[in-house]
Amino acid sequence: MSKDVNIDWENLGFNYIKTDFRYISKWKDGKWDDGKLVTDNKICISEASTCLHYGQECFEGLKAYRRKDGKIQLFRVNKNAQRMKTSTDKLLMPEFPEDKFIDACMQVVKANEHYVPPYGTGATLYLRPYMIGVGDNIGVKPAPEYIFSIFCVPVGPYFKGGLTPCNFNVADYDRAAPRGTGGYKVGGNYASSLQSHKLAAEAGFADCIYLDPATNTKIDEVGAANFFGITKNDEFVTPHSPSILPSITRISLMQIAKDYLHMPVYEREVFIDKLDEFKEAGACGTAAVITPIGGIEYKGKMHVFYDEKEVGPVVKELYRILSGIQFGDVEAPEGWIYVVE
Ligand SMILES: *Cc1c(COP(=O)(O)O)cnc(C)c1O
Repeated sequence: MSKDVNIDWENLGFNYIKTDFRYISKWKDGKWDDGKLVTDNKICISEASTCLHYGQECFEGLKAYRRKDGKIQLFRVNKNAQRMKTSTDKLLMPEFPEDKFIDACMQVVKANEHYVPPYGTGATLYLRPYMIGVGDNIGVKPAPEYIFSIFCVPVGPYFKGGLTPCNFNVADYDRAAPRGTGGYKVGGNYASSLQSHKLAAEAGFADCIYLDPATNTKIDEVGAANFFGITKNDEFVTPHSPSILPSITRISLMQIAKDYLHMPVYEREVFIDKLDEFKEAGACGTAAVITPIGGIEYKGKMHVFYDEKEVGPVVKELYRILSGIQFGDVEAPEGWIYVVE
């Protein structure tokens, strides 16, 4: 490490910490500038920016991992670049090219290398790429200018003492409309989820389950994470719905279940009143990797999967392989790992 930073690596949470450099690039007159690293963590934008009024904003989230040999690696960063393109296309924002996206992530990690937590702590450097519509504008239309930026924050492992199951209830409200923007990582989806999360937390749950907005009978998402279940026949099942945010962790787990654990994998409907088919369940996403689901409360009844206190063996094994790949301890499928050099 090139420089000492005063961080208690063992006790990091998921909180903002100002790191030294962030990448910023501006789009004006139809093109992106060269982009650069800056130290200022404030951005100054027009009061009439579309991101402030009309939600013309999208973001990504990924992590940099310190390996046992001290090197740093990114996990499937090309997938984040591709997903951001689906978001920017949807919101009529300019594409930020995949090669530039990956290069910018590399630059941010290298410039903040001393903030990448040591191997063995379970902590990582979380990267937050985002794009906002800016510039002087008042009508509901795409912005005249855009900012693309990436900042980073060291974050702790979600679960300090190993994988701890969480309980969830079912939200009374939808997070996304049918044929809406649920499948895109755009800010507007999250403002409207804050209230459901608050209500779930007040009722003593970790977060809420969102059902498919059209029929309210099938599981869509678990808070801001994707759902998967392990059936009694040892199949890996994850919901199929256009209003689910396509999680990169989820597609990775689907491949791990198939290629490492030789399980049949299905993307299909998961009915909230047919949870008995599953012996284990989990929520997945970059931040938590996997959250084992202890139980789900629906219509006043608690459905427990494996155990409310203990993680089941299949979810535990999926976690071991995925986090092993991410930290460089387990051999990765081709193209998943980007070493920061
Ligand atoms: C980001 C996100 C996920 C997880 O996606 P990953 O690529 O695995 O981090 C799941 N659901 C929602 C709503 C999200 O915003």
